[in-house]
Amino acid sequence: MWENEWRKNIWHIISGPWDVIVIGGGITGAGILREATRLGLHALLVEQRDFAWGTSSRSSKLVHGGLRYLKEGKLTLTRESVQERQHLLHEGPGLIDPLGFLLTVYKGDSPGRWTYEMGLTVYDLLALRWDHAYYSPQDFQLLAPHISLDDLQGGFRFGDAQTDDARLTMRVIREAVADGATAINYVKADTLIMDRGEVMGVELTNMMDGGQAKAYARVVINATGAWADILREHVGEMAHIRPLRGSHLIFPSWRLPVAQAVSFLHPFDHRPVFIFPWEKVTLVGTTDVDHGEALDDEPRISAGEVAYLMAAVDYQFPSLSISLGDVVSTYAGVRPVIGTGKLDPSEESRDHVIWEDHGMVTVTGGKLTTFRLIALDVLKAILHIFPEIPEPSHDMPVLNQVNQKVPPGYDLHEAIWRRLQGRYGADAGPLVKAAQAGELELISGTDTIWAELRWAARDEGVCHLDDLLLRRTRLGLILPRGAETITPMVEAICQAELGWSDGRWKKELADYQSLIACCYSLPKNESIPDWKGPLLEVLKQRKASQPSRRQKIIRRSSLTAAVALFIAAILLLIWRLIKPIKRV
Ligand code: FAD
Repeated sequence: MWENEWRKNIWHIISGPWDVIVIGGGITGAGILREATRLGLHALLVEQRDFAWGTSSRSSKLVHGGLRYLKEGKLTLTRESVQERQHLLHEGPGLIDPLGFLLTVYKGDSPGRWTYEMGLTVYDLLALRWDHAYYSPQDFQLLAPHISLDDLQGGFRFGDAQTDDARLTMRVIREAVADGATAINYVKADTLIMDRGEVMGVELTNMMDGGQAKAYARVVINATGAWADILREHVGEMAHIRPLRGSHLIFPSWRLPVAQAVSFLHPFDHRPVFIFPWEKVTLVGTTDVDHGEALDDEPRISAGEVAYLMAAVDYQFPSLSISLGDVVSTYAGVRPVIGTGKLDPSEESRDHVIWEDHGMVTVTGGKLTTFRLIALDVLKAILHIFPEIPEPSHDMPVLNQVNQKVPPGYDLHEAIWRRLQGRYGADAGPLVKAAQAGELELISGTDTIWAELRWAARDEGVCHLDDLLLRRTRLGLILPRGAETITPMVEAICQAELGWSDGRWKKELADYQSLIACCYSLPKNESIPDWKGPLLEVLKQRKASQPSRRQKIIRRSSLTAAVALFIAAILLLIWRLIKPIKRV
């Protein structure tokens, strides 16, 4: 699809005119490109760095309804999210897979057991399935060995799902391209072209060679996530985005073994945090802090966030004595949240919003999980410009159906083939056929096979080494020091497939290594605040504090309020299930 001359070929036709230009190659832009193309629109997507370079490769990788939305009373959003999860699970096995969640309930936790029970009941009803259960501490410990039993009252298990966010984005973009769309990475929309006060197109810079071009379209869609205000300011609109950073720590799964996600309230601030398995490693996340740094710099975890996440691990798995030395890698992403000035960043809404300014449509916020719904909302917003196209349908599958067989003559384990079909869709067969001797083997300590590197380098628009190791594959995150041990093999593949000279390889490697050191590793150990002392203090205080009479009354009233909310939720749910959602 994207071999040899592909960038040159696209650059020749980039001026258009297009029906739609989508700016931003994250999951939101990808979804819009997919759905626009499905409707027969002639669409172009440009991404200033690599596809999924922004937040869409830095999420927690959960495809979920989000219990927090339920807590906020956002039933429609939760219902849409769990239904999208079900669609994605059905359509993308090997890319979107079930993930069990264990929710701990400790003495003094608020919300407690019954509030969770009510929430999970509604959660399951919204997905039209029953998938949760409560366990005693003894049984819960069998599900999550090594978990702290101190004050553990029990816990729930419920079902959600997870994905590889960057691969999901790639699959959606490539399926759009296979259907006639055009997409190019490392092309930045610098400024808007205006005519009589209306946006007519964009001025572009090719970030690989500095080339400049103008591209015209009937509508320009700004799907630049946390960057959305930058283009809006070009048409004189006010900034709305409050960039919030969320960071993760990654551990080897043998050091921090969890078979399912463990979800609990952080002892410092009672925010929900997760420890979960992914790609043979264990992720711990996430934080939620204001991101004051320049958006064009790679985000990175701060020393304070490391201490916060280490405290969470120590609190939940004290017997494992996890230390900073166990961390394999770190990553951070920036949420485009619409700021309303709330003191606590976690209280800002995560809904998506759509604005129209001088003919440009901006969409930002929302979740990876609901990317298709966001795309459909955008298309509905631009429908008046294209009277010739049909109304977008909610009934279409999100992903193309692939049900191929392993190419004849190749012997692949069923699990590997399933994973390849999920992550590469229709390209799974060609990927296997492109493999050279030994490349259908797993790369040690991962679920990735060598042939994925070759295929990505050959056909997936890789421009730099970090595209290959951090987004097409995730080896740079899951193997220590950015996958240092496989450097010689990666070099051979890059030189063969990308035609990189020795000089180019050395430069790519040096840039990649400094990126890993700066943004995917721990900050200097001496800068990381002590978390053990504050954690001990919090636990001591919790032990000492018996609930006062007033607290008991508050708890009783909260329970009454929760029961009332539960009944209201059930009634609303029944009403919603009878009355299908109508979108504007
Ligand atoms: P992005 O992925 O950031 O894409 C925008 C792109 O626009 C960027 O790649 C950027 O380079 C590009 N761009 C910017 N300016 C220009 C320009 N001028 N020209 C060309 N390109 C430009 N959601 C879930 O459903 N599940 C989760 O588990 C989850 N976890 C999360 C955890 C964290 C820490 C964070 C931060 C978010 C999480 N989310 C999750 C939310 C989800 O990741 C985001 O909603 C989603 O990735 C946003 O996608 P996007 O395409 O809008 O933005």
